[in-house]
Amino acid sequence: MNIDVVTIFPEMFNCVFSYGVISRAIKTGKINFNVHNLRDYAYDKHKIVDDKPYGGGCGMVLKPEPICRAIKKIKSKKKVYVVYMSPQGKILTQSKVFELYNKKSLIILCGRYEGVDERVMQYVDEEVSIGDYVLTGGEIPAMVLIDSVCRYVEGVVKEKGSLEKESFLNKFLDYPQYTRPYKYLGKSVPKILVSGNHKGIELYRKKESIRNTFKKRPDLLEKVCLTEEESKILSEIIMEEKNEFRSFNVRSKCNKKNK
Ligand code: SAM
Repeated sequence: MNIDVVTIFPEMFNCVFSYGVISRAIKTGKINFNVHNLRDYAYDKHKIVDDKPYGGGCGMVLKPEPICRAIKKIKSKKKVYVVYMSPQGKILTQSKVFELYNKKSLIILCGRYEGVDERVMQYVDEEVSIGDYVLTGGEIPAMVLIDSVCRYVEGVVKEKGSLEKESFLNKFLDYPQYTRPYKYLGKSVPKILVSGNHKGIELYRKKESIRNTFKKRPDLLEKVCLTEEESKILSEIIMEEKNEFRSFNVRSKCNKKNK
């Protein structure tokens, strides 16, 4: 995977990608990662990369020439897909992450101030947003994109199968996880997980995955097509959750009476 970033703050990337599995993948050459300082592509001796917006208004805009020069230079070496991090872009979902991973070579442009001169868009294949909110710069969004894309690079996530089971890759959110100690804060780990019954564990996890989605992100369930088995599990969960809610109401009424 080749990733080139264009930014006015290249140092920000040193700290984030010097840790963990991605740093290891960079060191071992699985990911070819380069950060380019936009100022190195400025034409004047003061390395100016921004200017006032035409038509007035507050803030500054990143000038088009240094950006286009940087992209042209990086592109000349390889076939790449150019992404501009922008709150106006398509939202970065897990399927978008996978789509970008499949491009194999990315140039990621980080905006600052009021954004970039619109003419730069001639060099951009896609605008990508990390959510419907505005940050001060494209560096943190770029880091989010890079981290999520690089997890698909072979050997970055070591455990076989762990990528396939994650939230958003399937129809459902991930199931709840437990580790030692067995008993903590008055609660034990669900018995099935220590039973050694692999079929039972698989079934339990599937159900809890659906329950997590139902409780935390019911909107996701509206978008997917459930199998007959999944619909049955969901109906069971709805009944269980209703009963839980009822007994909670009874308990809270009892508590009020007792006061
Ligand atoms: N005036 C721009 C607008 O309203 O669309 C926002 C500019 S923002 C202050 C500066 C830069 O931060 C943008 O050019 C972009 O690169 C980055 N940025 C801000 N929010 C972002 C988001 N949600 N996703 C991706 N990039 C973002």
